[in-house]
Amino acid sequence: MSKAVPELWRLTVSEASRLLGDREISSAELTEAFLERIAAVDGRLSAYITVTADGARRQAADADRRIAAGEGTALTGVPMQIKDLLCTKDVPTTCASRMLAEYVPVYDATAVARLREQGAVLLGKGNMDEFGMGSSTENSAFFPTRNPWNPDCVPGGSSGGSAAAVAAGTATFALGTDTGGSIRQPASFCGITGLKPTYGRISRFGLVAYASSLDQVGPLARDATDCALVLQAIAGHDPRDATSLPSRVPDYAAGLTGDISGLRLGVPKEYFAEGMDAGVRDAVSAAIDQLSGLGAEIREVSLPTTAYALACYYIIAPSECSANLARYDGVKYGYSHRGDGDMWAAMERTRQDGFGEEVKRRIMLGAFALSSGYYDAYYHKAQQVRTLIRQDFARVFEEVDVLAAPVSPVVAFPIGELTDDPVRMYLVDIYTLPVNVAGLPAMSVPCGFSDGMPVGLQLIGPHLSEDKLLNTAHAYQQATTWHRERPEM
Ligand code: GLN
Repeated sequence: MSKAVPELWRLTVSEASRLLGDREISSAELTEAFLERIAAVDGRLSAYITVTADGARRQAADADRRIAAGEGTALTGVPMQIKDLLCTKDVPTTCASRMLAEYVPVYDATAVARLREQGAVLLGKGNMDEFGMGSSTENSAFFPTRNPWNPDCVPGGSSGGSAAAVAAGTATFALGTDTGGSIRQPASFCGITGLKPTYGRISRFGLVAYASSLDQVGPLARDATDCALVLQAIAGHDPRDATSLPSRVPDYAAGLTGDISGLRLGVPKEYFAEGMDAGVRDAVSAAIDQLSGLGAEIREVSLPTTAYALACYYIIAPSECSANLARYDGVKYGYSHRGDGDMWAAMERTRQDGFGEEVKRRIMLGAFALSSGYYDAYYHKAQQVRTLIRQDFARVFEEVDVLAAPVSPVVAFPIGELTDDPVRMYLVDIYTLPVNVAGLPAMSVPCGFSDGMPVGLQLIGPHLSEDKLLNTAHAYQQATTWHRERPEM
């Protein structure tokens, strides 16, 4: 029966779901196709830290029984990858750090548990920058991930393994996390669709904390429809996360009408500044023209505090990181240096050897910004700037419904090009960070190529406007084919 559907790994979530529901394919064969695809290409990509083949086969068999009993949902039997920053019960969760190389959680993150309840099949865990700190996946303690469009280039980060897997067809969809751009920027670099939901929309329970006031879980998938299906499964209140929002979860798939006539689309002029690749500018401008052709009203707007977002983020994120990562002391869990010397010496060595360079840089920056005498000058000031950034967006969203901008000023760059220049690496996220600082939802949508590498259009909306963003992306994807392009592998 499956002969009629060659290359099952090319299926989107919605296509796979329909074929599974119609019993034209089984989850067992679909899962096997993905495991074969991983075996064939992941040696060249390194998008996975752990592949859970046996578990995946068992879950696929369960899903097939569930579908046969007429109890399947949109995600039952659909194979996925989870970023290694999210806890998975009985499956190693390393955060791409030597510190947690051996860590096996005894519980699932809420987002993961909800996908499992739906019957999604876990293929394995995605490579990433250590603890989510980076923009290229080169900060993984284990190995860098390569971009499926060009193996000499980075896939973006920190959810680089997730984006590369979805682009290469080694997962139907993935869950990533976005603290300053880590879903949108790799989605953009790999030519796939990613959604960073409103802060609080998805539970952070079981997400290993980097910067708690910025971290958010979200889907990476092939199109807006798939993002809507995954978001539906994971969104909603969780009593185990005090920052999770009690707001009702709309029917996201039902909101995909493809009609955006009259949508007021703002174009923030600060997001088209000097230093941006001409190819990125051209692709994003063409996408905005296309959205106008689909009925959106384009208005230029201004977000004057954009210039301060990077500095603000690089005080707040490291400050929270230094507090969150204090727990890795070699005592409770994780790597522990057991050598000579007293407890303090052991703790020092544990942190020295357990963390990579970038993580240590952030811990030091954060500890400095929070230290007595500097707190007001740095941390307190950054919080005040954060309020201004929020107000800037709130003012603009009185005039427009959605903002359109580039995800990143550049496309995927060669591996090694920015590793010695942290500030240039930080600047890659200049257009994604403000969204996290303000707690807003945003998407990355494939909109063309520059120098052979994918470009992402960023759509940003007010709090809890995921439905509007998804529908805007869907309208665009109904009129274009960029999201259907696949890298040759
Ligand atoms: N690149 C940014 C950082 O290193 C964002 C990372 C993220 O979103 N996790 O902080």
